[in-house]
Amino acid sequence: MAEAKPKTPQKVSAKVWDENAVPRHRIQWCPGCGDFGVLAALKMALTKLEITPFEILMVGGIGCSGQIRNYLNGNAFHGTHGGALAYALGAKMANPDLKVISLAGDGDTFAIGVENFVHVCRRDPELMHVIMDNGVYGLTKGQHSPTHGRGMDIKIWSEESPPPFSPLKLAMTAGATFVAQSFSGDPKHAAEIYVQAMQHKGFAMVNDFSPCVTYNKFNTYDWYKEHVEDVPASHDPSDTNAAWDLLTDFDRRGRLPLGVVYRQPRNKKPFKRLPVWPQELKNPDVRPLLQMLK
Ligand code: SF4
Ligand code: MG
Repeated sequence: MAEAKPKTPQKVSAKVWDENAVPRHRIQWCPGCGDFGVLAALKMALTKLEITPFEILMVGGIGCSGQIRNYLNGNAFHGTHGGALAYALGAKMANPDLKVISLAGDGDTFAIGVENFVHVCRRDPELMHVIMDNGVYGLTKGQHSPTHGRGMDIKIWSEESPPPFSPLKLAMTAGATFVAQSFSGDPKHAAEIYVQAMQHKGFAMVNDFSPCVTYNKFNTYDWYKEHVEDVPASHDPSDTNAAWDLLTDFDRRGRLPLGVVYRQPRNKKPFKRLPVWPQELKNPDVRPLLQMLK
């Protein structure tokens, strides 16, 4: 007999994403934090795709950004700093039907989590990873992260505070098949990018400029508004050389591209599903496990 499926709501409205989330979890971000823009964009994208909360798993890391999974209805998992992508990959292997999104910060992804990031790019599983990039570790009061210093006119960097690198170039080099950038100051545009990222059949990285209004007084909303520029409509993201040249050209001009820079069809055999079959989960005897925890 077919498995009983959870009841699908008649219509997925934006309100669905607030149920079981706000105000059950009081929002703890500073007023004006860029993470609000990512939250708004995610709600728009999930609503547009008519995904229901039971079809999704949101995995968060540690940091202000990691709070976001509390503010959206749906299955969620809060992992350790830098670990979000490893948990997301494991969940996707166990249940390939689940829509898995990973939500993390720039320190989370590019410092302690960089080994997970690089190898998930190589494996290219069907996951969307949104980075709330603010150039600092906001939760621990503003220490420099690997993307700190973006746009600063510094002739000689120090070993304590080295220059920032390009998240997009790293993702492309490591093998991600969808590489894009968005800005929290324009959640509607960010939502369009998230829709495309969630429809992508491989690993989709979206680096979102998400200003920390409390600890990063340089990369502010106004600074970003002056420096972002849409990827031209004539750009072909399937052309690897064109994508790399676009990033180099934007760097040279001191501009930051917004949009899909690189996209390739996934060309890998999918992971073998982990051996957690539905029949194994029927009436499991958890008593030995509980005994161990006594
Ligand atoms: Fe947002 Fe920065 Fe406040 Fe954290 S410290 S909630 S990143 S504004
Ligand atoms: Mg950060």
